Amino acid sequence: MTAIVWFRRDLRLHDHAALHAAMLTGDPIIPVYIVEDSLCLSAAVGDKRLHAHFSAIAALDDALVQLGGRLLIRRGEPQQVLCQLAQETGAEKLFFNRDYTPDARKRDELVSEVLSRHGVFVHACKDLVLHEPGEIMTKQRTPYAVFTPYRRVWQTLPKDRPFPQPTEWILFDRLKELPSEPVPTVEAFGRNRPMGTEWEMEQFGERAARKRLQQFLDRDIYTYKEKRDMPGVNATSRLSFALNAGTLSIRTVYHRVQEVLASARGEQVTSIEAFLTELIWREFYQQVLYFHPHTTNHAYLPQFEEVAWENKKDLFVRWCQGETGYPIVDAAMKQLNETGWMHNRLRMITASFLTKDLLVDWRWGMAYFAQQLIDFDEAANIGGWQWSASTGTDAQPYFRIFNPVTQGEKFDRDGVFVKKYLPVLREVPLQYIHKPWDMPEHIQEQAGCKIGFDYPLPCVDHAQRRKLAMALFQEAKDRHAKTE
Ligand SMILES: Cc1cc2nc3c(=O)[nH]c(=O)nc-3n(C[C@H](O)[C@H](O)[C@H](O)COP(=O)(O)OP(=O)(O)OC[C@H]3O[C@@H](n4cnc5c(N)ncnc54)[C@H](O)[C@@H]3O)c2cc1C
Repeated sequence: MTAIVWFRRDLRLHDHAALHAAMLTGDPIIPVYIVEDSLCLSAAVGDKRLHAHFSAIAALDDALVQLGGRLLIRRGEPQQVLCQLAQETGAEKLFFNRDYTPDARKRDELVSEVLSRHGVFVHACKDLVLHEPGEIMTKQRTPYAVFTPYRRVWQTLPKDRPFPQPTEWILFDRLKELPSEPVPTVEAFGRNRPMGTEWEMEQFGERAARKRLQQFLDRDIYTYKEKRDMPGVNATSRLSFALNAGTLSIRTVYHRVQEVLASARGEQVTSIEAFLTELIWREFYQQVLYFHPHTTNHAYLPQFEEVAWENKKDLFVRWCQGETGYPIVDAAMKQLNETGWMHNRLRMITASFLTKDLLVDWRWGMAYFAQQLIDFDEAANIGGWQWSASTGTDAQPYFRIFNPVTQGEKFDRDGVFVKKYLPVLREVPLQYIHKPWDMPEHIQEQAGCKIGFDYPLPCVDHAQRRKLAMALFQEAKDRHAKTE
């Protein structure tokens, strides 16, 4: 007998639930990746995100080649491709890891139905999270909508151990003879390859992910709590791409962190626990989306579904391009546009600015992030946007609005981050770095930065927009109350 292992967002060989389950059968394995046009041809997916994903696929293929095999690559509708592959090879089993987003669930249900009809045994495994949607429910058997009680239960439950590495690999003997597409590249899809050394392939593969985890556990995890909000300091794990593309397993991360925790002392313990809390947020949002699939495009809180957003296109474009005139917002958007990643504090600041200062619908910003982020995860992105827009579960209250100047002063105190992404502000004295419009003219001259010419004037007045935002949210709430 033969087993197909379908790789999707689990692009690794270590600690892989579906691969492990297939190995246990003792059957020869066909590892396959299916290039889906819904990902590769969609304008909603940017070049950087696609390139990062393809690079991880290339690294997986390399790892399989080293084992004497290869990653079989096919293109098309998964249910058709997998049926065809089963017929070609006589495979009678299909293994894959579960994904919880609405589209992935629909796709996987169709695949399971079609393959089962063709006599293929379909086995879906838990792999993306430690606790799946439905495992942690309130006493009333409803899903949690508030994070803290969810976290408390999550922490008490036993966790699966990482799966052991197989000592011997049994790959399908005709694997190399089977027709396969080449490893996909962005160029093949008429896209542009991101430029610069940090875009080299190794950064995205399994080996690079394991190295990144090790580096984080060696040092930054011990100061995570203190430094995690400072974008100028590279002190967070930067594991989000690895966890979303699955070049690293959450079981491995969790248990490696537990090892470090066991020998930590005092402040180190609080720091490590703060990091673990972020991993729980990841699982919390997976279950929110699973149980509330409408939140992909609708407010979780119905009273804020109909906020009268202004949706001015020119302001949205300035936000996307990092030209709002607020340095912390602009530097953050440049970081996103250049690297495909943005620091968490900045994701909150930019999302708040778009929705509360520019009064643009959170769905516009969410789509822009989805296009640009290499670590895009639908559940976390929706969760983060709805939190920032005050429309989600456990969200920031609508009357608590970030001030982009004080946020900059608090979290980028020395202006290091702003200066890195906005070199035009490099010579601006520290006291003006987060409000350069306050610079007297002679200082603008000395700094070589004329406001309104070299760097834009603020596109809106924060104090005025804050009042307006609060009024619009209150109005939406009142309107909703009347219809109840
Ligand atoms: C508006 C907005 C949009 C976001 N979109 C995404 C997204 O598309 N993909 C994504 O992975 N994260 C998203 N986040 C969450 C968070 O910003 C990133 O996970 C984090 O910045 C990644 O950097 P890191 O790996 O260094 O994180 P660390 O601080 O080192 O955290 C470790 C891991 O915990 C998880 N995590 C951390 N914070 C969160 C959070 N708030 N929600 C869910 N999981 C979290 C991630 O998997 C992360 O890799 C978003 C947050 C906001 C406010």
